[in-house]
Amino acid sequence: MKTITEQLQTTVRDEADVLVVGGGVAGVAAAVAARRQGAEVMIVEKTALFGGLATNGLINWFEPLCDGEGTQLMYGLPEELLRRSIQDGPDTLPEIWKDRSVPVDPARVVHQKQHPVGGRYGTYFSPTMFQLALDELLRNERIRIRLCMSGVRPLMEGGRCLGVITESVTGREAYLAGAVIDATGDASVLHRAGVPCVKGKNYFTFIAQEPDASGPRGSLPNRRWRSIGASLYGVGHPPGYIHYSGTDTGEETAFLLDGRRLLQDMIREGKIPGRDITALPAQAQFRTSRRLDGGAVLTEADQARRQDRSVALLCDFDRPGAWYELPFECLYHPAFDNLLAAGRMISAAGWAWDVTRVIPSCIASGEAAGTAAALAVLRDAPLRALDVTLLQQRLRAGNVRLHRDEA
Ligand SMILES: Cc1cc2nc3c(=O)[nH]c(=O)nc-3n(C[C@H](O)[C@H](O)[C@H](O)COP(=O)(O)OP(=O)(O)OC[C@H]3O[C@@H](n4cnc5c(N)ncnc54)[C@H](O)[C@@H]3O)c2cc1C
Repeated sequence: MKTITEQLQTTVRDEADVLVVGGGVAGVAAAVAARRQGAEVMIVEKTALFGGLATNGLINWFEPLCDGEGTQLMYGLPEELLRRSIQDGPDTLPEIWKDRSVPVDPARVVHQKQHPVGGRYGTYFSPTMFQLALDELLRNERIRIRLCMSGVRPLMEGGRCLGVITESVTGREAYLAGAVIDATGDASVLHRAGVPCVKGKNYFTFIAQEPDASGPRGSLPNRRWRSIGASLYGVGHPPGYIHYSGTDTGEETAFLLDGRRLLQDMIREGKIPGRDITALPAQAQFRTSRRLDGGAVLTEADQARRQDRSVALLCDFDRPGAWYELPFECLYHPAFDNLLAAGRMISAAGWAWDVTRVIPSCIASGEAAGTAAALAVLRDAPLRALDVTLLQQRLRAGNVRLHRDEA
């Protein structure tokens, strides 16, 4: 392969205690959590809008915060963001969860996830209303924001990250920070910093949104998912079609162009009765690309296992009654002082990873990463030396449940 050598001198534009790269739900949660610990926080997002896959990627179903048997497991920022996602717009929240000052009546729980009365504590939301709500939240918290800016290279000194080089319409700049949270979904910062990562494998699942001519008139029925290709379990993956790793720009382009071409074919073949599409995804819908191989890896064997160093309690969105406690070590690699992962790229494998990558879990790991980053900077401690009891105390003060018996 041909290479060129660049010699660059880069302006240092700004400095913060905590720098978050990526403004999906995990990045926003991380930024808010760090700020609420008193840190100066900056968030950098490469698109024009916050929310990542949940908004730009049209994934507007907030998986549940409850265990499917009437008990709420997730509070803190996952619940705050769920409520914010529907505060000014439509929702499909089941009746039993609408008013949380009223205890859930076990007799009304229905074992059907999206049942309008007794279903699980999840909801569809309008992606655009959620985008506006995320702007408002970051603005209210006085978090420094840079949109349309990519974090392109971490500045490493051994195992310590001094900040990140960015590219934007302004040009190439450096932002320095006490701690950096990679919330890119792709572990782009960690990978370039030399942190061990593993690659994922994706089925071809391209989702657009079409108007629903059959439903009651309202905005959420007008955002019905139109799936092209495979289900979560790979059913419908076109025979012989590649499995995307999601870590290559050629693959990313092919995913988007193939999805749009197949959708156009379906419209022409009369398979979409309304002959219209409400929205196309502005982000390739890869469930997984690259993720951290951290100090611990959460696996299915950890289901229903108590973790003394838990920083979040996660519920399984598919298997009622199942839950995981997330150890702090799934958020960083011990050889690196101040680099954290948040969201769908934390250290987990198999089905346990699937549990960590849905919207509420991404927010929960973002909340834990942001809180830890702020404490590490304000106490001048590398992550491996951070007092986890203190971290847990701070998370609990934010209404986070860490163990199943606390829910
Ligand atoms: C097909 C599919 C269906 C799904 N279904 C559901 C569902 O029904 N319910 C559910 O709860 N979850 C679902 N999920 C999972 C969920 O939507 C995502 O895993 C979650 O939203 C990821 O959040 P995140 O913040 O970790 O990452 P992302 O949403 O990927 O956010 C990463 C952000 O970082 C930005 N970024 C990337 N690189 C850089 C860079 N270098 N510099 C600056 N910014 C950068 C991106 O633009 C993006 O905004 C689904 C996912 C897929 C793909």
